[in-house]
Amino acid sequence: MQKIERLELTTNFPIGPVYSYVVFGEKLTLIDAGLKNEEGWNQLNSGLHRLGISISDIEQIVLTHHHNDHTGMVDWILERNPSLSIFAHKDTEMILKDEYYLEWSSEFFEKLFIEFGLTREMAAQWAYRKGHRDYFEIATVDGVLKEGDYVPGLPSFQVIETPGHSQDHISLYCADEQLFLCGDHIIKGVHGGIFLDAPVHGTERAKPLLQYLDSLEKCRGLPAKLTYSGHGPIIENLDEAIDGHINNIENRAQRVINTLKKAKDSATGFEIIQDMYKGRYEKAVITFVFEIVSVLDLLLERNIVAAQKHNGVYQYRLVNGF
Ligand SMILES: [Zn+2]
Repeated sequence: MQKIERLELTTNFPIGPVYSYVVFGEKLTLIDAGLKNEEGWNQLNSGLHRLGISISDIEQIVLTHHHNDHTGMVDWILERNPSLSIFAHKDTEMILKDEYYLEWSSEFFEKLFIEFGLTREMAAQWAYRKGHRDYFEIATVDGVLKEGDYVPGLPSFQVIETPGHSQDHISLYCADEQLFLCGDHIIKGVHGGIFLDAPVHGTERAKPLLQYLDSLEKCRGLPAKLTYSGHGPIIENLDEAIDGHINNIENRAQRVINTLKKAKDSATGFEIIQDMYKGRYEKAVITFVFEIVSVLDLLLERNIVAAQKHNGVYQYRLVNGF
């Protein structure tokens, strides 16, 4: 019997708390490590204490993806327990701490934001924020996990690569007991969001929403009695949660189509955001850029929308008939 316990850790994000999981397997494993903040650290320690264990008992950490609400306290845990091992997707470490990649990431986003219609000032400001990371400084990934691998120390858990939410996202499935640990891939009732990462290989970026839809379909029908997400409630009906995400994506796509219908001829990505999220987008421009970039990828792929570059900025318009 796999015993899994959920630890609720605070974040300052609109999505609310993030969940880490303790799996009492062959090795005592922590799945994800919260956002770096004092309150979360106290919650982590008291949560472990309630389970009769402490930081020093943890033998390994598995990271579902690189986002800072999942990797934030890895350094603090390692400082107290330097002997534990960290497992993650092969690209997680590069995304988090490779200097060259971080530099390239800033340049990549600055260019993407300009092409999307942001002013040069906004593009520079937000690209810097995206590229700037101040966590995962001492940690390194000790073991890489890829599709089909069984997790060392958790031999009944198999890795399913689930890119889309991030490029390095993995989920873990335990067939013996029909348990699914899915990180931020599937979150009940909440659109977890699609985040862009600068290309990890080559210079062409991935189309995360297309990947995400594939990753959702990959998990459809998975016999899972319980699905444990990084946010939101424990899921008892996985396919229903998957359908919820797909409906949400189709609704968003329709809203972008409606916005483009109102536009005289064509619109930049930023104009679409300004129209759709007036009064809401200003504080978190990047979130909305990622969302609309990814929806436009989908509409371009479906030949509903066409794009043309004018003076370095993409103009999007509906293809005739839509
Ligand atoms: Zn995430």
